[in-house]
Amino acid sequence: MDWFLPEKFEKLTNLGKGATLCVLGSGPTGVETALYGAVLGFKVRILEKAKACENLVRWGHVRCYTPWQENTTLLGRELLKRLRLEQANRPLETIITGRQLALDYLEPLLASPLLKGTLETGISVLRIGNQNTLFPAGPGPITQETSKEFLLLTRLADGKEKLEATDFVADCTGTYGNPKWFGPSGLPAPGEIGCRSRIVYGLEDILGESKTYFAGKTTIVIGNGLMAAATVSRLAILARENPATWITWISHKPSALPILRVPNDPYRERDLLAAEANTLASRGENHVEFFPGMPIQQVEWLGEEAGFRLHCMGPLGPKTFEGERLICHRGFMPDTVIWRELGVPLDPVREDFGAELAHPHRLFGFDVLGAKRYGRRPGYLMKQVACQVRSFFARITRQPQLDLYRLCASKGETYP
Ligand SMILES: Cc1cc2nc3c(=O)[nH]c(=O)nc-3n(C[C@H](O)[C@H](O)[C@H](O)COP(=O)(O)OP(=O)(O)OC[C@H]3O[C@@H](n4cnc5c(N)ncnc54)[C@H](O)[C@@H]3O)c2cc1C
Repeated sequence: MDWFLPEKFEKLTNLGKGATLCVLGSGPTGVETALYGAVLGFKVRILEKAKACENLVRWGHVRCYTPWQENTTLLGRELLKRLRLEQANRPLETIITGRQLALDYLEPLLASPLLKGTLETGISVLRIGNQNTLFPAGPGPITQETSKEFLLLTRLADGKEKLEATDFVADCTGTYGNPKWFGPSGLPAPGEIGCRSRIVYGLEDILGESKTYFAGKTTIVIGNGLMAAATVSRLAILARENPATWITWISHKPSALPILRVPNDPYRERDLLAAEANTLASRGENHVEFFPGMPIQQVEWLGEEAGFRLHCMGPLGPKTFEGERLICHRGFMPDTVIWRELGVPLDPVREDFGAELAHPHRLFGFDVLGAKRYGRRPGYLMKQVACQVRSFFARITRQPQLDLYRLCASKGETYP
């Protein structure tokens, strides 16, 4: 291990004092959190309900629009160098797919001497409790008395459940597993709960492993964000190959162009995707038919052959759409049930949530990081993880100036 840890960290490697840190989720945020904690001498466990980097791998057949520099951290890249991996010298502006990010960055870090053996897959964390709810630990150094603050209820792949104690918890479980509903006011549309398992809510690999599912079918796509843009663009390519494929794209917003482009978008890939999808919608090319201003009132399942019927209230009155496949891209929301017993406000997830959770007498030692910290809002980017992780460890070690990323930066180098 000594060969692996840069000397500049020497005085910091016992800050965690061997306290246990459970990191929930092994996405980009979970891995960065675990890495930072392991350098500081926390005894890290990563509890992952599925496989390593599950969500990233699921949507990762598409290219990230943010570059390598923003999808990785200075600490992670420094450790890649020590592993002597070729990608450590990759140009910072390189664009890669989500799967490549898992393969070239997160997986080598998980297999590195720092994190080897910390990932436990097939463990869902169902609930987090605070063992000292009545007499919570106040601020002060990490000691045995303040330790084992939290209790986790976990479920293994075979259905067995157990309780596990830990000193600190970082909830990095993302939002991708918890899609938003498509009915009015964010509610499930009547019929949606019953059809939930038949509707696609994630980004499918339409030109790859899911091709046969969509080829030659009419797919209704709901939504007006980048995921809808990516889906429609791929379905349009499929329609060129297989002319029996049709795409009915509906948006609840009245705008004639579905995707709002960012003025002077710094991310070229994102802007290209938005422009391409808007062109498809406005020209009606490649079997894409776009219908704006269509809030959904109800969904019906008509059976395996016919698929779905959607009832909408359009600008000219009620309108129905039918299609064998239904994809909903209305975004994702955090699963707040997992920490309901901690007594935090009902839906408090927002950017400044960390400050609230860091309240010394209630929730010291627990935080929500990554995409989940953003709550229901879209727009979370991986470059934000460094700032969140740094603040989490500055709080739990009570070292406000602590910043491993700064130690990794070369002179004059800027970082988030
Ligand atoms: C299609 C798509 C494209 C994107 N493109 C970009 C991009 O180009 N650039 C960018 O910066 N951002 C992008 N993002 C946004 C964001 O950066 C990523 O979603 C990122 O993967 C979020 O990382 P995370 O670790 O917070 O969450 P996730 O990657 O979602 O990881 C959460 C992990 O927690 C696990 N988990 C969930 N619940 C539990 C539980 N109860 N117990 C244990 N484990 C659990 C999951 O299996 C998963 O492995 C994109 C998002 C999507 C959906």
